[in-house]
Amino acid sequence: MKCPFCSTDDTRVLDSRESAEGAVIRRRRECPQCKRRFTTFERVEQLTPLIVKKDGRREAFDRDKLVAGLKKACEKRPVSVEQIEALVTELEKGLQDVGEKEIPSSKIGEEVMRRLPQLDEVAYVRFASVYRSFRDIAEFMDELKDIIQEKAESKTRSQRGGPRSLRAVEPRDEDGASDPERVKK
Ligand SMILES: [Zn+2]
Repeated sequence: MKCPFCSTDDTRVLDSRESAEGAVIRRRRECPQCKRRFTTFERVEQLTPLIVKKDGRREAFDRDKLVAGLKKACEKRPVSVEQIEALVTELEKGLQDVGEKEIPSSKIGEEVMRRLPQLDEVAYVRFASVYRSFRDIAEFMDELKDIIQEKAESKTRSQRGGPRSLRAVEPRDEDGASDPERVKK
């Protein structure tokens, strides 16, 4: 390690100490040339690659977001949260094993598609039918949110006053009643 003060190549380690969790090693060093001291930190490189979205933006792999999306795909299916968590953990480990700094977001979608059928066929079809037309996990998650919200809203509507299709017809009937042709008769 180069001395940051005089750029001498060879510095001496005085003391090595591991952080409580063992994630970081702190080394106290001394330069034999200028005698000044400094500290270095050694840590493992970020393991999970950055996700490159379709528009080129980069973002960190968001485990919680993927779990939330899968929970929605598995709604009312015999799949436990533990099973979903395990799928995501395995997927994340797979991403780390690739050893790349960046991977396209489509790769995550493909990995989910590969693993989901073993968990639940219906959840797979739900996921696949929407995901296939997007090819981008972020876009898919947004779309899925809209679908879920729409479903919740139409449920509220039907509780208030019958199915959506019937209600949609009502205004047309009113228009028909005020139609001059019809009034004549
Ligand atoms: Zn020095």
